[in-house]
Amino acid sequence: MSLKVLSVAAECFPFVKAGGLADVLGALPSALRRLGVDARVLLPGFEGVLKGLKSWECLREWPDLMGGGKGRLLRASGPEGAPIYALEIPGFFEGLPHPYEPRPDLARRFGALSWVGAEIAKEGDGAGWKPDILHAHDWPAALAPAYLAFAPGPRVPSLMTIHNLAYQGFFSPSVVPEVWLPAEAYGMEGAELNGRLSFLKAGLHFATKLSTVSPTYAQEIQTPAGGCGLEGLLSWRSRDLVGILNGVDQEHWDPARSPHLRVPYDLDHLNRRCANKAALQEELGLEQDPGRPILGVVSRMEELKGLDLLLSDLDSWLDSGGQLAVLGSGNPGMEEAFHFAILANPGRVAGKIGYDESLAHRIFAGVDLFAVPSRLEPCGLTQLYALRYGAPPLVRRTGGLADTVVDATPANLAAGTATGFVFDAPEAPALGEALRRGRELFRDKQAWERLQRRGMALDFGWEASARRYLELFESML
Ligand code: ADP
Repeated sequence: MSLKVLSVAAECFPFVKAGGLADVLGALPSALRRLGVDARVLLPGFEGVLKGLKSWECLREWPDLMGGGKGRLLRASGPEGAPIYALEIPGFFEGLPHPYEPRPDLARRFGALSWVGAEIAKEGDGAGWKPDILHAHDWPAALAPAYLAFAPGPRVPSLMTIHNLAYQGFFSPSVVPEVWLPAEAYGMEGAELNGRLSFLKAGLHFATKLSTVSPTYAQEIQTPAGGCGLEGLLSWRSRDLVGILNGVDQEHWDPARSPHLRVPYDLDHLNRRCANKAALQEELGLEQDPGRPILGVVSRMEELKGLDLLLSDLDSWLDSGGQLAVLGSGNPGMEEAFHFAILANPGRVAGKIGYDESLAHRIFAGVDLFAVPSRLEPCGLTQLYALRYGAPPLVRRTGGLADTVVDATPANLAAGTATGFVFDAPEAPALGEALRRGRELFRDKQAWERLQRRGMALDFGWEASARRYLELFESML
């Protein structure tokens, strides 16, 4: 009998994606299934989910879920034939421009998702399937462990995974009854943090085990600097907390197979990569010059991503002959700043303010250096994609960036272990110094190619991480 695990999450590639969480949900369950786990996913019934799959069948129904109206548990076959569940509540999930759109129903929207996850864990899906373990991802699913803790009968074990502690799902205490939480769940030893309801704290308090997405981030969140007010709880539960690095979906993120690239390439045909650089310069309107290093950015634009540091040091990068290719959206002020940089530097700064999965592939394949200057980065996926596409990442030493990029110090270069450039202080001069080192090494074509090859040869596939999740699940039974 294989182990049965139900993941509950708000995002899953390719149906609904706001960030890296979607990539994880799009890949981890398949990796677990390859290890023999019956891994299934419950998603909110957003339009992208309901239209993304065919032949939904209804397994269970509720007349009214948290004031959103009728709720239906639907099941369909996912891309690989494994079942995917969707919770259809048109009142909550239809017509939203963004999954986390802050409408007044935000708490109930995801409270209902968590509640139905717990309901499947306790009572089954209505068609004879019941998970051994519930795996809750981030705050939208984080009430599920709390519902399970207060349910009668033997408790279904749950794992709460933190993909980003900075988003906790804070709401007024008046929301507690609206999301059907028992009053006892709201307190210091429960879902309350500084007088507010924190969905994530509920999950971290009531789940059987906790995990996050890199070993360094698992340490950082136990400190006042990285704990977002939850460091006490997380240190207290440190024996139940592990950091497991995210992997890369190596089929999807593969420069040899990506349908988005002009010229596919791999380690054995690295010389073909330069055609992608030329194509990117042409596509974006950058000056056509193979000798100019292009720095790439593909990111949500928000303070935590540290892109303001890059803007502060942009002039010296451009003055030294560099170019910038940027793709991102988010904070309006930052979008405007990048828009301005594009207008002010024709031929040297170019890109797109918006979301574009296909262009993202071409940026990874065409740029020479890839910047992830995050103030905070639980794991980070883009630096892993950059490594695989032969664009050495330039990152700040934090969270998963610290765990996955080896700085090109003279010693690491000599040892052949270097894969990118790492800086410490979240300040523009520190980033500028890393850029200067990058520019210098770029001039040494042989050394640069060794750096690219080392990164491309690394295996950040899901298999090793899925094995660690499996061990964790087994320890919970
Ligand atoms: P986060 O989850 O904090 O956004 P990650 O690095 O874990 O950061 O994951 C970001 C994911 O979103 C990656 O797959 C990245 O390629 C993608 N992404 C971010 N911004 C854009 C964009 N503007 N267009 C296309 N893909 C984007």
